[in-house]
Amino acid sequence: METWQEVLRKNSIASLEALAIKFGPENFPELDRLRLAAENFEFRISPAMVDLIKEPNDPIWRQYVPAVDELEVVDGIVDSLNEDEDSPVPNITHRYPDRALFLVSPVCASYCRFCTRRRKVGDPEKIPMSQFESAFQYLEEHTEIRDVIMSGGDPLLLNDRRLDMILARLRSIKHIEIIRIGSRVPCHLPERITPELCETIKRHHPVWINTHFNHPDELTPAAVKALGMLADAGIPLGCQTVLLKGVNDSPEVMKSLMHRLMLARVRPYYIYMADQVAGAEHFRTTVQTGLEIMHALRGWTSGLANPYFVIDAPGGGGKIPLLPEYVESMTDEEVVLRNFRGERFVYRQAREEVGVGAGGPDPEYLFQPTLQLKKARKKAVAPRKRKTA
Ligand code: SF4
Repeated sequence: METWQEVLRKNSIASLEALAIKFGPENFPELDRLRLAAENFEFRISPAMVDLIKEPNDPIWRQYVPAVDELEVVDGIVDSLNEDEDSPVPNITHRYPDRALFLVSPVCASYCRFCTRRRKVGDPEKIPMSQFESAFQYLEEHTEIRDVIMSGGDPLLLNDRRLDMILARLRSIKHIEIIRIGSRVPCHLPERITPELCETIKRHHPVWINTHFNHPDELTPAAVKALGMLADAGIPLGCQTVLLKGVNDSPEVMKSLMHRLMLARVRPYYIYMADQVAGAEHFRTTVQTGLEIMHALRGWTSGLANPYFVIDAPGGGGKIPLLPEYVESMTDEEVVLRNFRGERFVYRQAREEVGVGAGGPDPEYLFQPTLQLKKARKKAVAPRKRKTA
């Protein structure tokens, strides 16, 4: 049986010529400009993703095939999240009080054309593997860091021995409680999730994995099996999804993705607005599109299938959550709310005079919670309009 390294090396597509042979030269009319786009950012499509492409410009094609749109820069920023500014030593970004990002691998199985870190990913000089010592020392010295997120590139493209070494070194640092791994390998290269890899990770628990799926078709039987192996190894699984034009910018596609993730034992964690990255602006949608998607999820399907919707603020402001408007008004007396159906409800604010020594609430309410609820609901629901014949 081929190893995952052989599968990746032999069966990936990594040149425009190979793409043209596979999908037909007529689909690559501006070859010279496309070549420029492919040279600007590493290009490789793993076998699992090649197999998923049904036709040119479909949701999988758009994520991996270079496009001339990448050459257009309007509002795009090279380091849109200002990660380099918050990097005290090579490979570490320390932005939030108790956690740090640790870049441990420069390579990915497939290269996503919308990648936020496209300025670095695929280039071993920009994510140097020989300078880990200063990163480990930084993590050792900063006792406030209790959560380390291993990223890259894709950490699960490291071989088991190297991964084991990094995890062991992190585990030897007493104040690091949680280790997280960000990886698209369960989607891109499910062959990489081997029993040996699961055993390696298991030795260093608690380790969490945040994977990354953007379209329901990506939950192939092989991907679901790989996710099941990780879950069976006791690894809590989350998913980070990026909202991408022409890929998943509709409530139907997003809801189907969330449901299929849950079936694969993965908790949807984030939907990100696509970052304002130079070279990837053609993937951006409006914030309203994201809010409409969230509105179509919240209340209409399981709470577990509702991730946070966030903008990772340009300039390094961090993740800022967004919610559709459910609060209509708020005073010291009451909050007027709309539920997922748009129905109006009133929530009474707590009153200072209620409580021990202040007369206390009506005993009827204390001992008959069902009655309390019914009365409150009767008061709160706006009178419905009568239907006229
Ligand atoms: S797998 Fe992640 S790091 Fe790699 S190219 Fe895709 S988005 Fe970027």
